[in-house]
Amino acid sequence: MLHIVSHPDYDIPLADGHRFPSRKFTRLISHLDAEGILAEFTHATPIPATIEALSQIHDPNYVASIHDGSITTEALRVLGFEWSEALARRSFLAPNGTLMTARLAREHGLACHAAGGTHHAHYGHGAGFCVFNDIAFTAINLLRDPGIDQVLILDCDVHQGDGTARMLMDEDRAVTVSLHCATNYPARKAISDFDIELDRGLDNEGYLAILADTLSKLAGVMRPDIVIYDAGVDIHIDDRLGYLNVTDQGLRARDDMVLAHFLARDIPVATVIGGGYDKDVAALISRHAHIFKASADAYAHYCR
Ligand SMILES: [Zn+2]
Repeated sequence: MLHIVSHPDYDIPLADGHRFPSRKFTRLISHLDAEGILAEFTHATPIPATIEALSQIHDPNYVASIHDGSITTEALRVLGFEWSEALARRSFLAPNGTLMTARLAREHGLACHAAGGTHHAHYGHGAGFCVFNDIAFTAINLLRDPGIDQVLILDCDVHQGDGTARMLMDEDRAVTVSLHCATNYPARKAISDFDIELDRGLDNEGYLAILADTLSKLAGVMRPDIVIYDAGVDIHIDDRLGYLNVTDQGLRARDDMVLAHFLARDIPVATVIGGGYDKDVAALISRHAHIFKASADAYAHYCR
């Protein structure tokens, strides 16, 4: 079975005009339903991660400050959100959603999270709309599961996965790969195991050639037990925060290429939606929908 993991409480209550499209999670599910894509998936819903579980990868004081709202104004400024009970709840739900997605992917070959990819969250603080790092949380927990000796994180969001790279720096069994625009947030980059810096204005052809080359190089040096794929859509030409020129066709081709590469090798893939920023939320949702369409097709081809 092909699973989609989501939760009705993923939306974040923010003031109108906030740069983060806070209600995109519920709208994405409605869109997939209206397009007939949701019918291809079995739905799964996470329970919140515990304070104890998150405190194993994040600073316990930071985890507590998100839980009880004692987080400082300065920390909230870096994070980009105001604190609310709803923000706290979704912040504890989403990391478990990505972990659940990864475990379903192990069982079935492929699974999709209709959230996740909060890769700017660091050990002791959040940043860039990312409270907790669901990717690092998932990788570390997966490595405690029997039969998992290596986790590959393929981060194709337009921004570097700096939080993930730093949080997993001392974990050799979690390999971090980030394809990102060189001149974009975060200004101070971390060191991933593999950083592929992309020039501003890169088009479909250029992007896909670099991705194919990256996948081929990785295949030559490793065989992961599972892949966490951040399918961020902020590489799109119309994205407000990205500087690349990848079109919808390019997004879909990217997702097809990644899924085919690993599934053809019997390597399970867990997808997260990552970043995407547009005042036109309908257009943004249609970009996030590509990974679900690509997954439904790839599942039918490789996993049935
Ligand atoms: Zn991003």
